[in-house]
Amino acid sequence: MADATALGMPSVRTPRAPQRIGQSYHIRTFGCQMNEHDSERIGGLLTADGMVATPTLEEADVVVLNTCTIRENADNKLYGFLGALRAVKNRRPGMKILVGGCSAQKDGDLVMERARWVDAVFGTHNVHRVVDLLDHVDEWGPVTEIWEETTSTDDFPSYLPAQRETPHSAWVTIAIGCDNSCTFCIVPTVRGREISRRVGDVIGEVRSLAADGVTEITLLGQNVNSYGRDLELNGRRPVFADLLRQVGAVEGIRRVRYTSPHPKDFKEDVALAMAKTKSVCEQLHLPLQSGSDRILAAMHRGYNASRFLSRLEMARDIVPNLAVSTDIIVGFPGETEDDFAATMDVVAAARFDQAFTFQYSPRPGTPAATMGGQIPKEIVQDRFDRLVTLQNQISLEKNEAAVGGVEEVLVEGPSKKDPTVMTARTRGNKPVHAPGRYEPGTYLRAEITQAAPHHLLGRVIS
Ligand code: SF4
Repeated sequence: MADATALGMPSVRTPRAPQRIGQSYHIRTFGCQMNEHDSERIGGLLTADGMVATPTLEEADVVVLNTCTIRENADNKLYGFLGALRAVKNRRPGMKILVGGCSAQKDGDLVMERARWVDAVFGTHNVHRVVDLLDHVDEWGPVTEIWEETTSTDDFPSYLPAQRETPHSAWVTIAIGCDNSCTFCIVPTVRGREISRRVGDVIGEVRSLAADGVTEITLLGQNVNSYGRDLELNGRRPVFADLLRQVGAVEGIRRVRYTSPHPKDFKEDVALAMAKTKSVCEQLHLPLQSGSDRILAAMHRGYNASRFLSRLEMARDIVPNLAVSTDIIVGFPGETEDDFAATMDVVAAARFDQAFTFQYSPRPGTPAATMGGQIPKEIVQDRFDRLVTLQNQISLEKNEAAVGGVEEVLVEGPSKKDPTVMTARTRGNKPVHAPGRYEPGTYLRAEITQAAPHHLLGRVIS
């Protein structure tokens, strides 16, 4: 591990001498990259305390569920999972069960009321306390510890040791929380207000990761475009475009990605930084959510369809070969057939490379959950199917345009379906499957030979 302090990053918290040597842990992660990132940190802390990760939940001494609360059935999934875990714990009474993440942050004591066999509950703001809570359980028994907010940037998960899944690729948090108030979203409630990390801390972490052999960085934030609004550096406010350039300039970093920008804050300076910084990939995730101005207003998104399309056009004019993905919610309360038709029109006009499409589900605690005009499931399903059909056709056409071309790809490993085939990703973040066995983290050039809606086929040429 490179000496982080020498590289300008406050020292990673050096845990105490290992106390749980030889014990095993298993982490089950639900939800977004922010949770995946937190789970890497939880794994890093438990490993630093002498434990080893086990892929088999039933054999673990400590099981950690890192939960998500974005979808209605997310909570049902959690309590269902805890129900199944009870039987395992009855067979292995020494097993410790910890519940963290957004559902825990939202439910707090309720988790243990509904599942008494849980040993500890922690939230999104005190991930760094996971070993302390295990000590508490050993010493005094079950504990619930929920912090209402992150009190200092030193509590950012990024200062914790990490157990990363992929040695060549890493997530780096640049800000936590969100100051927006989209009416369908629970994130501001469970992740709190926006707090940006200092530029030097972010760059220090990227340098330390590069020194560790990481070549691909994904910058994480709920709304990366508002990065730095709460910071002051030499009398001025650092902005995301500057941070992107600085991260892209770190020696050893070959690919920089980021998620998520907010269309209302996505400006030309970021597109220019992308175009002018070689390592920043030609890939943009720009969540549309709906194509209807009436629904966008009800969602409190802060832009309309024409503004979204003009921002998209601006980005495509400035960044050559830009691959664009988006998020779309179908069936938001009050959505009429005309509103949905407007979404289909924007999707047809925007021609996204990929769209993550969701059926609206009410989230207790969000304004939209109590709005009138909740749409019957079968109507939502029908609209969802029509949208997916349209988008799949567009994705296929976009991928067909790549056939015959050559792409730089980063190897992830053997394909899950066929070990004689490798899976890699283009700079546009598209999966490419090609025959051969190659080391994860290797950069290759591949000729694209065939296209499908959600992946490309190719052959390695160098
Ligand atoms: S920008 Fe909106 S959707 Fe995204 S995290 Fe913030 S409130 Fe949620």
